[in-house]
Amino acid sequence: MAEFFETFKDIAAAAMKKADTACRAAKLTLSKAALNRLLENQYIELGKTVYNMCKSGSEDSREIVSVTVQIDGTRKRIAALDRRIDDVLGLVKCPGCGSVIKMKNAYCSGCGKRLAAEQEDIEANENETVISRE
Ligand SMILES: [Zn+2]
Repeated sequence: MAEFFETFKDIAAAAMKKADTACRAAKLTLSKAALNRLLENQYIELGKTVYNMCKSGSEDSREIVSVTVQIDGTRKRIAALDRRIDDVLGLVKCPGCGSVIKMKNAYCSGCGKRLAAEQEDIEANENETVISRE
């Protein structure tokens, strides 16, 4: 009976962890959606700025530079959120093909490449290959 409760505790703990992960990922995804809306508005603002500049025949591009800097900032924030979402979900990008895969996988499901967990082995093998070619 004690064993049953230990197993039950493990299952409950795993379920709690899964729910927590889903909750954290959902919050980050909402933040990302808000940033994407902001980015859309900044692009619209950039378009209006360029339009007004053309219409007025102005050569002063300071406003365009300012909006462009804001867009770059928003894009960086979105990229950082993407990395955090992947991190929370335990996902990584395959260095071989760019597929998004589970961090714990030993091989990429997209291209079959061996993944970072065994990076040292890969480097060792590559060194051996280089040596054997000579
Ligand atoms: Zn791959």
